[in-house]
Amino acid sequence: MKALAKLTRDTGLTLTDLPMPEVGHNDLLIKITKTAICGTDMHIWNWDEWAQKTIPVPMQVGHEYIGTVASMGQEVQGFTIGQRVSGEGHITCGYCRNCRAGRRHLCRNTVGVGVNRAGAFAEYLVIPAFNAFPIPDEISDDLAAIFDPFGNAVHTALSFNLIGEDVLITGAGPIGIMAVAIAKHVGARHVVITDVNDYRLDLARQMGATRAVNVLNQDLKTVMAELNMHEGFDVGLEMSGNPSAFRQMLEQMNHGGKIALLGIPPSNTAIDWNQVIFKGLEIKGVYGREMFETWYKMVALIQSGLDISALITHHFKIDDFEQGFNAMNSGQSGKVILDWQ
Ligand code: NAD
Ligand code: ZN
Repeated sequence: MKALAKLTRDTGLTLTDLPMPEVGHNDLLIKITKTAICGTDMHIWNWDEWAQKTIPVPMQVGHEYIGTVASMGQEVQGFTIGQRVSGEGHITCGYCRNCRAGRRHLCRNTVGVGVNRAGAFAEYLVIPAFNAFPIPDEISDDLAAIFDPFGNAVHTALSFNLIGEDVLITGAGPIGIMAVAIAKHVGARHVVITDVNDYRLDLARQMGATRAVNVLNQDLKTVMAELNMHEGFDVGLEMSGNPSAFRQMLEQMNHGGKIALLGIPPSNTAIDWNQVIFKGLEIKGVYGREMFETWYKMVALIQSGLDISALITHHFKIDDFEQGFNAMNSGQSGKVILDWQ
């Protein structure tokens, strides 16, 4: 089968021919329709320090996808051949304390599809049926292909009550942009987003941001004053992984504010802890998606009118995958879809 894989310890990926994967008793074989390119795939494409120490070579990568059930193991129940599915990319152990308590997103033995085991950039993908998620008819292939990062946005944004609250989102990457739409949809008052990239800030405006602020040439405090926000933000969603963005967020939070951290900063990032202590801030780390509460919420948010389709800015046939990765690397893109059929 056709697959996009890292074949040498170098930049880029190769479209190659790999053997069909084996389907275990509890597995689904999924025929891939569309995939999307994640920031993680860009780390792997660019072969940065993280990728070099994390990704085994050769490796079939990718974890954002939609496909149809092509076959299933003999123990699998609840799926039908031809059914449209996406899937949770974190494969959990099932036996640790958190898994057994149903808190699968906190599994300490998580294995990543397209990171630690064969991924979705291929004509066929095998995953445990437990990880597959049926996609209702009214949700398009394009949207379903980005459910993985949409789930990061939903998990993070719904960490705290947003109704009537003023929300600061740092980082207008695809996930931050989706978080804007979610926060507005569920009833936040002001949703202010920051970035250093005007293309992405424009997309965030289209998603309903009250203000989209380029911190290179605009002062966040001035924007807050213009919005009559004299006490600070109630909720912060850190989605840049940039230490100075996180520090700026801490400074602009109201006392008693709540922060969810999704962005991954360098491990030695220093902050002013006095901001946390004297303001009585609550800080929560967010990893992946809740299994499978976040997936049900994603479907329900779209069924209740949330529209994130403008985030998808580029489509390419899989044979033109290089153009897709170049679009992502340029910073002048939202989500990029690669078509496998
Ligand atoms: P992304 O890299 O596309 O977006 C990050 C954005 O932050 C970029 O648009 C960048 O211009 C912006 N930025 C840089 N400096 C800034 C500053 N000083 N102030 C404000 N914004 C600034 O990433 P993404 O795919 O949208 O993901 C967002 C973050 O979440 C990344 O750090 C990613 O690694 C992380 N992530 C975490 C998880 C998890 O499970 N915890 C899952 C997916 C992604
Ligand atoms: Zn576990």
